[in-house]
Amino acid sequence: MQVEPIINERKSGIHRVNATFISFFHVGAVAALFFPSWQGIVAAVFLYWLAGSLGIGMGYHRLLTHRGFKTPKWLEYILTVCGMLALQDGAINWVATHRIHHQHTEVPGVDPHTPREGKWWSHAGWILTGTAQQHSESVLRRYAPDLYKDRVHVFLNRFYYMPLVILGLILLFAFGWSVFLWGVFFRVTLALHATWLVNSATHLWGSRRFATDDDSRNNWWVALLTFGEGWHNNHHAYPAAARHGLAWYEIDLNWWGIRLLQLLGLAKSIKLAPLNAISAPQQFVPTATKSE
Ligand SMILES: [Zn+2]
Ligand SMILES: [Zn+2]
Repeated sequence: MQVEPIINERKSGIHRVNATFISFFHVGAVAALFFPSWQGIVAAVFLYWLAGSLGIGMGYHRLLTHRGFKTPKWLEYILTVCGMLALQDGAINWVATHRIHHQHTEVPGVDPHTPREGKWWSHAGWILTGTAQQHSESVLRRYAPDLYKDRVHVFLNRFYYMPLVILGLILLFAFGWSVFLWGVFFRVTLALHATWLVNSATHLWGSRRFATDDDSRNNWWVALLTFGEGWHNNHHAYPAAARHGLAWYEIDLNWWGIRLLQLLGLAKSIKLAPLNAISAPQQFVPTATKSE
C-alpha cells in the first residue's frame, strides 16, 4: 500500500496533555517506592502482563495494527480494553502511528519516532512534543480505515482513559494506597518506558538477522521487558507475522498467548514468517513486504 507522506502534519512545541500526565505518572511511580507491599507488587506484575502482553503486544500491535491473526469481535474488543489500561492512547491513534512507522521507517520528519532524529527523540521526545499520536482525523482515517468504520473502536478510542480511571478507583478503595500506586502509577510508567524502548533501543542496539532497509534490531532485553516485542528486526522483515521470536531462544510470550488462543479456537488465520526465514542470516527482504 503506497501512501502519501505526511510531512506537513508534524507540529512542534510541548504536547501539554502528554507532558503533564507523563510527569504526574513518574511522580506517582517514585511515590510507590515509599509504599511497598506484596499485594502492590503482585497487582503491578499482573496488570503489567494484562495491559502489556494481552493489550499492547497481542491486541494493539499484532492484532489491530498488523492483522497477524483473527479473533472473534468480542475478544478483539476485550484485548483493546486491556491495551487501554496501558494509557498509550486509544487504539486508533496508536495503530495509525505505528502503521506510519512501518510505512515510512527512518524517514526524518515522517517516521514518528526514528532514532535518526536523536535517541531521546525516539524514546520519549516524540510523545512529549509536537504531534505525538494526535494526528488529524484525515490522517487517522487514512492509516486506520478498518478501525474507523467500527463504531465500537471509535467509541473506545474516544474514552481510552476510562478503564484505567475505573480500575484506579477500584484499587484505591478496595485495596488502599499501596496497591493503587503500584498497580496504576508504577506499572503504567514502567510499561511506557518498555514500549518506548521498542521505538528507541530496538532501532539502535542489537543484532540484525535480516538485511531490512531500516535500522531495526533484535534486542533480547527489550524482548524480555515487552513479552517479545524486542525481536524487532524479525518484525520489520515480516510485519504481518504474528510470531516475532523465530528461534527457540527468542522468547516471545505474546506469541505464546496467540498460540494459546489458537488452541482454544479463539485465534485463526495466523500469519507467520516463511519456514526458511531463520536459516538464511542477513537475507535480503524485498521492500514490498514492508507495508503488509
Ligand atoms: Zn520499528
Ligand atoms: Zn509493528
